[in-house]
Amino acid sequence: MKGIHHVTAIASDAARNLAFYRDILGLRLVKKTVNFDDPGTYHLYFGDSSGSPGTIMTFFPHEGAGPGRVGVGQVGETVFAVPEASIGYWTERFIAHGVVFETPERRFGETMLPFRDADGTRLALVALASAGRLDAWHGGSVPAGHAIRGIRSVTLWVAAGDRTGAVLAGALGMRESAREGAYIRHVAGADDAAPVIGGAVDLRVVGDFLPGRMGAGSVHHVAFRAESDAAQAAMGEALRSGFGIQATEQKDRNYFRSIYFREPSGAIFEIATDAPGFAADEPAETLGEELKLPAWLEPKRDAISRALPTLERAA
Ligand code: ZN
Repeated sequence: MKGIHHVTAIASDAARNLAFYRDILGLRLVKKTVNFDDPGTYHLYFGDSSGSPGTIMTFFPHEGAGPGRVGVGQVGETVFAVPEASIGYWTERFIAHGVVFETPERRFGETMLPFRDADGTRLALVALASAGRLDAWHGGSVPAGHAIRGIRSVTLWVAAGDRTGAVLAGALGMRESAREGAYIRHVAGADDAAPVIGGAVDLRVVGDFLPGRMGAGSVHHVAFRAESDAAQAAMGEALRSGFGIQATEQKDRNYFRSIYFREPSGAIFEIATDAPGFAADEPAETLGEELKLPAWLEPKRDAISRALPTLERAA
């Protein structure tokens, strides 16, 4: 079990979404496609140079979507890892670009810089010495020395931590590693071997706070990694036999194969295979440059392209 595969959120403006995650956060747009279940909407994937599992943040930009509200059963914060000495760089970058951010805070002994995108999506950077030793994408808008290395953790808002924690441990191979205030940290991997990228889920126990409401700025779901179809099937079986949770049948998402279920606090969880990855339908060197469609939507490419909003704003 290696932890988080990707996080998918809802945005309200595709061009603004691209400008924020590619041009301000410096992530690579690794896939430009549509929502397979709603082809009039883009599905934009951002990540490291190849879109490695654990680095991927994706968006469904619904033009004009109203704002969501974070609450129980939602991911309330997605945290990206940056090198330890990079918080000052990022603070100045946020000021220069008018990004809303808060005072840095300490959690589990680490420095975090909370900030938001234009839809109010709650994000944070965490400064980690171990992140500085990881490869960074050199082609982005942020110098590689300060670049985001990937998703370090998500914070899931729960009424109580026990039932969700049991699913994380019993079906997703994670384990509780620490508690601090309202936060319960679960990590992937044995002992101290938790991966830096995608390796942690923090449960934030918020009691009888209202349930979340989906909208722009909301995380739609979080996906966890399965290293093979067999591993994914075993996780699905553990959900069924251990918790009475029936996951969906496997769906082919072109870049991974997925099953979905709702965890006990109400959040949508996905289990996604590592394979085949984003170079499945275009060269690794030019990821994200062309609109890619699954084979069954290719006959409608012209109509789909015309219906999609303008993605690149004129300079
Ligand atoms: Zn997903």
